Amino acid sequence: MAAVLQDQGPNFTFRIQEVEIPTLKPREVLVKLEATGFCGTDLSLAYGYLGSCNSILGHEGIGRIVATGSDCASKAAVEGQRVGIGWIRDACGSCRVCISAAGGETRCITQVFSGRDIPGTLASFAVVPERYITPLPDDVPSELLAPVMCAGVTAYKALKVANSTPGSWIALSGAAGGVGLLGLQYAKAMGYRTIAIDGGERRGGICLDAGAEIYLDYEKEKDLRSAILRETGGTLCSAVIVCAGAASAYESALHCLDYFGTLVAVGIPPPTSKVSFHPLTLIDYGVKVIGSITGDRVDILEAAEFVRRGLVKPKVIGIGLNELSQYSRRVNELDGKLVVRLEN
Ligand SMILES: [Zn+2]
Ligand SMILES: [Zn+2]
Repeated sequence: MAAVLQDQGPNFTFRIQEVEIPTLKPREVLVKLEATGFCGTDLSLAYGYLGSCNSILGHEGIGRIVATGSDCASKAAVEGQRVGIGWIRDACGSCRVCISAAGGETRCITQVFSGRDIPGTLASFAVVPERYITPLPDDVPSELLAPVMCAGVTAYKALKVANSTPGSWIALSGAAGGVGLLGLQYAKAMGYRTIAIDGGERRGGICLDAGAEIYLDYEKEKDLRSAILRETGGTLCSAVIVCAGAASAYESALHCLDYFGTLVAVGIPPPTSKVSFHPLTLIDYGVKVIGSITGDRVDILEAAEFVRRGLVKPKVIGIGLNELSQYSRRVNELDGKLVVRLEN
């Protein structure tokens, strides 16, 4: 079965139908999926905001290998191996970007994205190249691992990129979203003190439930910098992870950083957005601005380990495939991660 996108654009729907089981090339494996998350990127793809996409979306899949191609030889390419399928479905491993830095594969020049370039994980089966298998531990429920594959690892990687000192204050802007809520949990588990920034009382409740020490409502606080100094007793942030997709969130985040702090860019404002700041904001404080994308396979394994140990527990809203049309439009307003069960 698969959820097949119909009418990409404002009136999209999903048709649940049987699809053929994909055939394998010699160095590919077939994964039978148990669960997959549905994230904000999937919604943007369905609406057509990100250009053309595959008719089968999805990039937070968890399942097991059920068949291997004739030339597969790696240790992970064995039937029964539990695997995850994230946004990046393949990387060449040999281009300048892949080999230039740890995690370079997340920006591989020829990278292939799940649900955009090839069929995604909203289906019973998916094909993975042997060289890009992501093995996962067995002893964690699939619905808890699925959110790690995109939102979770994106949050975790952003915190790694921030490279802050444990015990320091880290703010997450846009904290009540899918990445932000998991980011609050990861930040706490990694030893940071957390400030959630978002708008409205309801979102504040969600952030505090997720473990935020402080919640700041940007609709009420005219000056977030002063609010942080007030709430922390005089300390600014070692890092601000901007998960919100608004230029204003970036501009205010720069003023919340302590000396030598780091702004980590994750949220994506509309294509025409511009962020404006005076260079002295960077120069005087010696702050850094750095972009973070999803994580590589090592980041996924590390992020999954936090879930396996119970230190991070994604709040999940589990649905069946036939409920996807109904829930998918609200994915950015739900109080938990939308996870589709693919097994009967
Ligand atoms: Zn590459
Ligand atoms: Zn995603």
